Amino acid sequence: MNRSVFEAAQEAVPYEAERRAMVEEQIRRRGVQDPHVLDAMFSVPRHEFVLPEHLGAAYEDRPLPIGTTETISQPYIVAAMTAAARISPGDKVLEIGTGAGYQAAVLAYLGAEVVTVERNGSLADAARERLQWLGFNRVKVVEGDGTEGYPADAPYQAILVTAAAPRVPEPLIEQLADGGRLVIPVGDRNRQDLLQIFKHGAETSTRFLDPCQFVPLIGKHGWPGPK
Ligand code: SAH
Repeated sequence: MNRSVFEAAQEAVPYEAERRAMVEEQIRRRGVQDPHVLDAMFSVPRHEFVLPEHLGAAYEDRPLPIGTTETISQPYIVAAMTAAARISPGDKVLEIGTGAGYQAAVLAYLGAEVVTVERNGSLADAARERLQWLGFNRVKVVEGDGTEGYPADAPYQAILVTAAAPRVPEPLIEQLADGGRLVIPVGDRNRQDLLQIFKHGAETSTRFLDPCQFVPLIGKHGWPGPK
């Protein structure tokens, strides 16, 4: 039996129907309209960032476990944070909390020069390898405490924190460029507000975006770690 041209075309993009449904139903319908962000969410293969046992759930409307406590964020939250960061090609962008590397890949797809910091060394190594293998060669994955930022490459046009902070870490404001955007969940360990913070000169202004739930940001300017 020959496959029809239609079937062959459908197979060209793995999980194409799931990706389309994710973009339409979870992201566009909830208010993220930026065509570049929607294109990135469709194009970055989320199934490459999840554990093999979660392949079938890769495009579902929820975070998925990637380690003992760590998760890959829900697609809508990744899209909302990316849109709030207002990425233009060539922007230098810092992400705190590499996890699986998915958010970093979405940022890189939009043409950002991405530096991403992860405190868990084995997750950092796995993400570095995965991003290389998928062709995201310009993402720099650094192992360390991201609550201190990454001063070596500052200033950044945008900073995204993908773990829950008890308060805004001061070094991140310092390392933001004038006109830069910081997108960060701030709150207690169970529930946070996703904030969009703009830096104008010595001033900042803050907008509330969404309620959210992230794993804790652990470090010097975050929550204390396990003993
Ligand atoms: N952005 C990721 C999901 C992040 S989950 C993705 O797209 O897959 C949150 C991550 O933040 C976890 O991997 C956790 O280990 C990490 N983390 C927590 N505190 C951190 C800190 N101080 N510095 C860097 N990473 C941190």
